Amino acid sequence: PVTDQAFVTLATNDVYCHGALVLGQSLRNHKTSRRLAILITPQVSREMRAALRTIFDSVVDVKEIDSNDLVHLTLLKRLELGVTFTKLHCWTLTQYSKCVFMDADTLVLCNVDELFEREELSAAPDSGWPDCFNSGVFVFQPSLKTFKHLLQFASEHGSFDGGDQGLLNSFFSSWATKDINKHLPFIYNLSSSTVYTYAPAFQHFGKDTKVIHFLGPAKPWNYKYNPQTRTVTPNDSASVSENQLPFLELWWITYKSSVLPLLE
Ligand code: UDP
Ligand code: MN
Repeated sequence: PVTDQAFVTLATNDVYCHGALVLGQSLRNHKTSRRLAILITPQVSREMRAALRTIFDSVVDVKEIDSNDLVHLTLLKRLELGVTFTKLHCWTLTQYSKCVFMDADTLVLCNVDELFEREELSAAPDSGWPDCFNSGVFVFQPSLKTFKHLLQFASEHGSFDGGDQGLLNSFFSSWATKDINKHLPFIYNLSSSTVYTYAPAFQHFGKDTKVIHFLGPAKPWNYKYNPQTRTVTPNDSASVSENQLPFLELWWITYKSSVLPLLE
């Protein structure tokens, strides 16, 4: 095992911990040789911490950072995303020389250890604004100096979307044009909505997907799952795209078989 490199995720409450546990289990299932670390905040329950410790090598308590940027978050219609500033703490994990951050709403479909060949800051384009990177999956190098600069930058300039993604894109602003090696292929952070917004591209390239990202307000844990038929249905009357179903079902199979038993 490579002990000085890690996959890192974040959960500020028990709900996102369910996602983090599924992500961690998916990395284990595909035999990563890297360490697994999770940042959590005081709100996470004792029971959940015990479950996290069975999948993650390192469970790190951090303080919640809130962008307090109501205007921008209201614009984005995602008031809950202010806490994503807490993500910045990942730069303090200096026991590792290099890390890959992954949102708690991502799931790996195969081994993705080759991501560690990339340099800071490598990330895939955001499907909503492709000159920005999506901050759900990125390669970074822990450094207290960078952490300090990020906090300083945040207090001076805020974030144009009120969340971590706006801030990180302004801070690593050369990403769009400087070095194509820092552009991860989209299959390392396939936003689940792409499977219906650009269905032909998904039909053509989707079989190579390595990481699925359940971006947006409807998370896998918001769906209903029928274990008998192994089918997923939305909790309300909303519809779910055909192409999305296999990913949601995989999430739920992992959750039922490996995560729920830890919580009972
Ligand atoms: N997150 C969290 N608690 C929250 C909201 C977000 O821990 O209340 C973390 C979690 O790791 C999540 C990430 O921040 O995956 C980014 O938020 P989210 O995935 O909801 O944003 P999206 O990808 O939908 O833009
Ligand atoms: Mn996400």
